[in-house]
Amino acid sequence: MTQNIEKGKVVGFAYHLRNNQGETLDESQEPMEYLHGYMNIIPGLEKEMEGLTIGDKKTVVVPPADAYGEYDEKLVYQVPRTNFPPDEDLVPGMQFRAETEDGSVSLFVQEIMGENVVMNGNHPLAGETLNFDVEVHSIREATSEELEHGHAHGPGGHNH
Ligand SMILES: [Zn+2]
Repeated sequence: MTQNIEKGKVVGFAYHLRNNQGETLDESQEPMEYLHGYMNIIPGLEKEMEGLTIGDKKTVVVPPADAYGEYDEKLVYQVPRTNFPPDEDLVPGMQFRAETEDGSVSLFVQEIMGENVVMNGNHPLAGETLNFDVEVHSIREATSEELEHGHAHGPGGHNH
């Protein structure tokens, strides 16, 4: 029986991700499994996976709004170096979580400028159009435990 990707299926797929300049941003080393229809992958990609079957290959272009959002200059700001523990070795790209009135947000260090640290609250891939080459390797029914948790479990079951 041919299976097609729909809500509640666990899908194994390989992907190669490039930006609009053709640079590789990410690539799966081995097929990765996710539970379809539960927002476990970016919405713009999940929508295009719908209906595919094993062996299908597809190029999916996801605009920033359906990926990691538009780049927001307002999320870039400077904080004094003294806000960080003195023994923290700050390097660009380091990620931090900060508690705000809107909840917990992820920030990364963009640059160290003298006594100040430039923090960026954009996702590192914000503003990027994502170009995925995907290939579907497997499709199976999710277990009831997976459906309950809303995500796929690897071989050997629940391991998180
Ligand atoms: Zn789980």
